[in-house]
Amino acid sequence: MSTRVWRVPWLPDSRDGCLITEMPIELEETTVAGLMDESGLKWDEDILQDLCNERDRELILQIPIPVQNREDNWFWLFDSNRNFSVKSGYRQLQGEIQKPHAKFWSRLWNLQLPGKVVNLVWRACRACLPTMMALATKRVSADKVCPWCLQMEETDIHVLFDYSFARSVWLVFGLQNSIQLNCNDKVFDVVLRVFESLSLEKCALFGLACWSIWKRRNDWVWSKVKVSVQGVKAGAMTMLQDWKNAKKNEVQNSQE
Ligand SMILES: [Zn+2]
Repeated sequence: MSTRVWRVPWLPDSRDGCLITEMPIELEETTVAGLMDESGLKWDEDILQDLCNERDRELILQIPIPVQNREDNWFWLFDSNRNFSVKSGYRQLQGEIQKPHAKFWSRLWNLQLPGKVVNLVWRACRACLPTMMALATKRVSADKVCPWCLQMEETDIHVLFDYSFARSVWLVFGLQNSIQLNCNDKVFDVVLRVFESLSLEKCALFGLACWSIWKRRNDWVWSKVKVSVQGVKAGAMTMLQDWKNAKKNEVQNSQE
């Protein structure tokens, strides 16, 4: 599971075992474990949907995931105790010179968070959130207006950081002072500053808040369900605790 996703022939295809989907440069070091869901027992179809084309996705889904005899580094991507070899450390240093923000991406993918949360932050950083504004730019829809305030254009900055509800969420998460918005900032700029100034634990909280705000937005857009600020925080904390418990049980079961 510590096999790298790209440029390694791990797919069950004798002609070409490598992924043919183009590799996002930040994901060069991503391992196969990162494509599984929180339980580590299933492929995460949302992530596969986002990252891979149909051919790669189908091949990956054919591969069964063993329940037993799992190696220690099964949770490699999301486990802060992962073993760093000298070689991988060196590669990382080198990468820092060749690839901008390699340290940031590595921090992000190693947060103690469910894959879907990390994936959301990653998509936001790459300006891939399907906001009204993004859909209008792609001519998918004609309406750019924020479905909440019905005044501003719904950009990713607006929905995640700037509108009043988002600001209230940052307040209850205690991170309001870490969110600084400058003119012309992209989401990536904001996230980068947060990651440079906060501890890993706080960065995880930041990711959780982003995910919660986006989920709440979707609950409203798709199901017309309104969740309060306190409800958003409580839901996020419960989700995280369930994930941590599931992970703990998983480790215990594998040791029995
Ligand atoms: Zn708005």
